[in-house]
Amino acid sequence: MSRPHSAADPAPVPLIALDRQHGPIAHEMQEAVARVFAENAFVLGDEVAALEAEIAELCDSREAIGCASGTDALVLSLMALDVGPGDEVITSPFTFFATAGAVHRVGATPVFVDVDPVTFNLDTDLVESALTDRTKAILPVHLFGQCTPMEQLWRLAVSNGVAVVEDACQAIGATYRGRRAGVLGALGCFSFFPTKNLGGAGDGGIITTDDRFLADRVRRLRVHGDAGGYHHVEVGLNSRLDALQAAVLRVKLRHLADWTIRRRENADRYGSLFRHYELDSAVVLPTIADECTHVFNQYVVRLAENHRDTVLSALRAENVGCAVYYPTPLHLQPCFAHLGQEAGSLPEAERASRQVLALPIHPDVTPFEQERVVRGVARALGHALPAPVHSPDDPGHLPFTRWAA
Ligand SMILES: *Cc1c(COP(=O)(O)O)cnc(C)c1O
Repeated sequence: MSRPHSAADPAPVPLIALDRQHGPIAHEMQEAVARVFAENAFVLGDEVAALEAEIAELCDSREAIGCASGTDALVLSLMALDVGPGDEVITSPFTFFATAGAVHRVGATPVFVDVDPVTFNLDTDLVESALTDRTKAILPVHLFGQCTPMEQLWRLAVSNGVAVVEDACQAIGATYRGRRAGVLGALGCFSFFPTKNLGGAGDGGIITTDDRFLADRVRRLRVHGDAGGYHHVEVGLNSRLDALQAAVLRVKLRHLADWTIRRRENADRYGSLFRHYELDSAVVLPTIADECTHVFNQYVVRLAENHRDTVLSALRAENVGCAVYYPTPLHLQPCFAHLGQEAGSLPEAERASRQVLALPIHPDVTPFEQERVVRGVARALGHALPAPVHSPDDPGHLPFTRWAA
């Protein structure tokens, strides 16, 4: 429903705008869906195999195995490595719940190590001291679309005989030293949740690996451990990717490189705008780390603790979408209280949870909307407002209507 907007009730600036993303490609997606109905093959099959090949090509991995969600990608990866009861998995406390939920789900114990305050990724300097003789895997999260620096993790993994599994759910296409997320560990886990950079029309996930044995095992585990002919050598899950999802994802994958470029351009534009409004000391902008490329699943700024919630409510009052990822670090979640990692034990993750704010960065946010976000922040912080730079019909470099023809 659209209604007239006024100064008191301005047009919304959405944090996520799937309507804008899907509008120009609706006919492509509908054709893809019709193709699946014409075949009447709905689970796994050719569409899924084709998507797996395309994702493997994108990530430069030998294998890719579709599954039901990013969470299941993590669970299946840990199962394929025989991570289970008695084992510890070192991971980040500053991530979506599923990262540690998957560790717990396979019966292992998450061991949270604090994050780097600049990138919000695992502080890899702290991992060595968390290793014990029970550590079975290290599970870095490439948060917000930027890879964890892997060098030290690789060295620790080799010298201690532990595996590295990447939670790359937010980082499809991101690189570290020129290599894609998903081939930086034994297994890489991706989510096709609709808000991810490559999102389906529902849940979905995929696992990438260069290891044929692990790939075969994951393929078996996703179908109840069926080695073929109803011969169950182990107990797995029902975690298969639907053909409808694969068909939609294959259409969207053709646009992913473009969308990623636009996310980066939008990040650059926020940088210019925050500097223009002289907010770059009050608002800490995202940093692109050495040897990394960023795919900006989220554009997360950091504000002083007493400012964050003020800005959050001011933006919401102006109909500007924003959100806190993540308000509670995982070691402080009630379900992990028994692990004994108390408040104060992981200060950077705890500080981040009080200071971060995600702003609209999706490929179709317009320069005018981005300036509304920045002006909203300026107003909330009591800064002077210079004349606007962008007008409502300023399309930016890449108008989101360009596929409409
Ligand atoms: C989205 C996400 C997941 C889980 O993916 P689902 O497909 O929702 O199960 C796991 N880890 C991170 C970091 C995520 O962002």
